[in-house]
Amino acid sequence: MSRYGNHGVVDNDIEYGNAHIALLQQFIKCRYIQGKVLTAMVNEINRIHHHKYTPIEYVNTINQYIADYSMKIRQIKNNESFDFAIVNLKSDELSKLASNYSNEAISFFRNIFNKILESKGGIKRSEAFELSRGLKINDPDLQLQSFIEDGWFRFSESRYLTFSNRALMDLEPLLRDLNECSLCHSKLLIVKDEFIKCPNNECDTLMHNYCARRWFESHKNICPNCKNRI
Ligand SMILES: [Zn+2]
Ligand SMILES: [Zn+2]
Repeated sequence: MSRYGNHGVVDNDIEYGNAHIALLQQFIKCRYIQGKVLTAMVNEINRIHHHKYTPIEYVNTINQYIADYSMKIRQIKNNESFDFAIVNLKSDELSKLASNYSNEAISFFRNIFNKILESKGGIKRSEAFELSRGLKINDPDLQLQSFIEDGWFRFSESRYLTFSNRALMDLEPLLRDLNECSLCHSKLLIVKDEFIKCPNNECDTLMHNYCARRWFESHKNICPNCKNRI
């Protein structure tokens, strides 16, 4: 008898079972799952399998199991909540693009990727189009759109082309040069209206807007590092 009743499926809290397999299949299908969507999936799986595990308990148990395959489900902060993505720790994700795009499109992709990385934030739409020059791409706008639809890039509210959350997770090994948020220590993109910099020139503190907002609630606009007023 388990503490959830005599259903005969999984008796141990941390045992990898059918419920975990069901969730792993969702991750393989979707690759990127928003936190609130994951919660809904977990509720449904718990209902079917008579469990009461939290999303994090599922993710931790699945991660133990898939580590042998060099895979991991990672969390990434997205505003107030966390999203999740399954990533391959071994292969170069950029090389996988080869099966989806033409060589010319991959060159365009790499140009955009490098330019955003160089800026540590985002680039304007017109700058992105410049990067297709000399490449045989009929419709750069359409090509850019497919990169966005495939989940690699996004436009910020201030209309800068930047990395999507999926790119931040999947391509992490290539993104070491990006800045980090002083509060949550995740990657931070220098994109207008998405971050705050400490005004003290001797302090290099950068914070996500949403992390700063929460910090200021209890710390009265004080920089977490130099204690200056922001
Ligand atoms: Zn942050
Ligand atoms: Zn400071």
